[in-house]
Amino acid sequence: MFKSLFDAGYKELKRVEKIANKIDALAPEYSKLTDEQLQAKTLEFRNRLKNGETLDSITVEAFATVREASTRVLGMTPFKVQLIGALALHGGNVSEMKTGEGKTLTSTLVAYLNALPGNGVHIVTVNEYLASRDAEEMGKLFTWLGLTVGLNLRALSKEEKQEQYKCDIMYSISSELGFDYLRDHMVRNKENLVQRPLNFAIIDEADSILIDEARTPLIISGPMKAQQVPYSNVDTFVKRLIGRKINATLDEEEEKLDFTSEDEYIVDVRAHHVVLTDKGARKAEERFSLNGSNLYDPENANLLHLIHNSLRANYLMTKDVDYAVQDDKVIIIDKSTGRLMHGRQYSEGLHQAIEAKENVKINKETRIVATITIQNFFRMYKKLAGMTGTAKTEEEEFRNIYNMYVVEVPTNEPMIRIDAPDYLFLTEKAKYEALVADIIERHKKGQPVLVGTSSDEMSMKVASMVRKAGAKNLEILNAKNHEKEAKIIAKAGQVGAVTIATNMAGRGTDIKLGEGVEELGGLAVLGTARNESRRVDNQLRGRSGRQGNPGYSRFYISTEDELLVRFGAERLRGTLALLVKEKGSDKETPLEYNFLSKFVENAQKKIEGLNFDSRKTILEYDEVLRMQREVIYGQREKILFVEDLSEITLNMIKTAAENLVDATVGFKKRYYEDELESLVQEIDSKFLPRGALTVEKIKDKNGEQIVEEMLKISNFIFEDKKAHVPAEQFDRYLRQLLLEAIDDRWLDHIDQMDELRQSVRLQSYAQINPLREYQEIGFQMFNEMLAEVELDIANRMNRLKMRILLTPEEHKNLIASFASGDANTQKRQPKKAEVKPGRNDPCPCGSGKKYKNCCGRNGQ
Ligand code: ADP
Repeated sequence: MFKSLFDAGYKELKRVEKIANKIDALAPEYSKLTDEQLQAKTLEFRNRLKNGETLDSITVEAFATVREASTRVLGMTPFKVQLIGALALHGGNVSEMKTGEGKTLTSTLVAYLNALPGNGVHIVTVNEYLASRDAEEMGKLFTWLGLTVGLNLRALSKEEKQEQYKCDIMYSISSELGFDYLRDHMVRNKENLVQRPLNFAIIDEADSILIDEARTPLIISGPMKAQQVPYSNVDTFVKRLIGRKINATLDEEEEKLDFTSEDEYIVDVRAHHVVLTDKGARKAEERFSLNGSNLYDPENANLLHLIHNSLRANYLMTKDVDYAVQDDKVIIIDKSTGRLMHGRQYSEGLHQAIEAKENVKINKETRIVATITIQNFFRMYKKLAGMTGTAKTEEEEFRNIYNMYVVEVPTNEPMIRIDAPDYLFLTEKAKYEALVADIIERHKKGQPVLVGTSSDEMSMKVASMVRKAGAKNLEILNAKNHEKEAKIIAKAGQVGAVTIATNMAGRGTDIKLGEGVEELGGLAVLGTARNESRRVDNQLRGRSGRQGNPGYSRFYISTEDELLVRFGAERLRGTLALLVKEKGSDKETPLEYNFLSKFVENAQKKIEGLNFDSRKTILEYDEVLRMQREVIYGQREKILFVEDLSEITLNMIKTAAENLVDATVGFKKRYYEDELESLVQEIDSKFLPRGALTVEKIKDKNGEQIVEEMLKISNFIFEDKKAHVPAEQFDRYLRQLLLEAIDDRWLDHIDQMDELRQSVRLQSYAQINPLREYQEIGFQMFNEMLAEVELDIANRMNRLKMRILLTPEEHKNLIASFASGDANTQKRQPKKAEVKPGRNDPCPCGSGKKYKNCCGRNGQ
């Protein structure tokens, strides 16, 4: 009682009990309504909400409506405890309701109420079978009341999903909701979005979804960017090139790597790198029919990248030195140890290039393209509620991470299941012998038995022992076929049934007792080992004794069980052996002592704590990415929805100009000539068309004025392009440009953050706080990325020949018009530089590195 006073869940229970009484009091009145009058309530509530009433002010009436409707449509009248459970859900809590108390029906009350404003309610189940079943059964109730019901299955098309998401109430599994969210933030047109803003989610089996599943984040991995040309075609081309090897020192490099030589490629053995000569490049242009465009044009960056990888694979990498080929696979050799590094891959397509060279199967390149934790996904809902039979042990986690209290809802009928204390054995062998004897004895009487095991392997082992001992009609449940699972589980309460299941199998399905089973003591649940968490144990026990039925549960454990071994059962064994002796009994006799149960429980608490910590760590790390995700996703949303993108684009270009000046020479009143020269060089290569701004023009200007000059030109280019095409086309073009620039960098960034996370973890021993390190570097990387996005957008907007917008002729004229009055600038402009990036330019492949350090380096 004293504890209860401070228990927020208990207070919440007392609060909602009073409301439940009011709903009860309305029952006689509502039962007199005609069907039409009852159905008309929905519209009435919706109108009242529109006129300023709140969900809380109509809760009592709405619940009374659903209760009466449920009686008429489903033939079930929600019990008072179900009203209480639903009210607790409405408050954004976890309702702990024992198995068989009717959580499915409970959720309908709160779903109906919260769906009235029309912003969508998601009911989340553990598998698609249950989602379909509940959507169909409960759907009858909702549609009768005039609400729409959807079902979000993995296999649906985009259009079908959009239909489901529009519904007032939608059933789904958790991961599909998360994946839809991630996919929605990768689309290029708002017509492709499927989700509405996340409003309210009711999560069935909340512990399973919010805690167990939360250990692994949702990850969408995608192939690397689409390849222009198959690896094997590139490989064939590269193998036929004619070239030679040289041994140059670094200083000589430039001269010896003569681009105009007769060779098509040159391998620099000492520097371990290989270059494609001009002749080689021209050959590639011909071979891959680039139709007059240059291999070094940005649009051919991908092909260039493939060729360079293939050059490296063919002329720098050696089989059985750098890598081995085994079973149709390329395996990296660790040079320092000579060990084969199975499962590791060269990155950025080099691995694939080697696979092509060795003529083995080419594996698709994949990378993380989007990721979110279950925790952070569900925390984005405006309101969140959960139901489960077992939550109290995880109360702290629900409160800390999801801001939900656990409300223990009383059972409809008093619970009379007998939970017997654990039987402990010295050896595993003794344990199983006793367990099988117990099963057979009950089976002979006809009492149904459910055996819970912790692995598929164990379930098979127990099954074969039980079979040998003479049990008939054995069902083994360890499959992943949820529908079949649910059907078997549902029959587990019949006379003579013996069901051997892994713990989680058939979760969410109620076991009803067959005729005459009550007299036999109800369903007996026997556990073959204590699980890592008490919650899973309780879940298993909860299979029996539903709705005031009789039932029985007991766990069989031994000092050789993994859990006990991990927590030092060795030490216990001596004591136990003594106890066995003292009792004068043999080894097979089980021991039931309180201190043993305590020992087991403490071990479980320790593991629960460790698991909690590891989930917390995942979350702390994801927190960094979450903030970044919000910025990027927010920006994407704006771009998708804003009609006229000119302002956004021009703002980005402005920031890019300021950043460029700041990063190159800084903001000053006056600059030296050489500073101006290097600034103009930067502007030439990263911001404006080559030659559009000259040193002459900015000679006497300060930093701000230079930015103004840069913007004058870029704004002119912008307006000029805008004037050349229909507004709609221009907007579409801008939208694609902006999204592409953001996505390109963002996807790389996610990958880099993943690498960073792995690398900081390795530093934790060096007295560095890895999380802090991750936050700091991650923040810095993110800011750099944003700056790169802006510069990239400015650069593309200003420089690329946008064929769809301007003819090459028009483009040239445009540039010429800026340089007019200084005709020399135009002449000085090297012709080649226009088609081939300068060595210090950003690489056209988009890596963000300088061209000479990237594709321009022809391998490393
Ligand atoms: P839980 O998920 O809580 O274990 P279910 O939602 O599967 O329980 O419901 C258990 C069973 O009880 C179902 O067969 C359901 O139809 C039935 N049931 C639930 N509520 C009621 C009720 N108020 N009256 C009659 N039967 C009910």
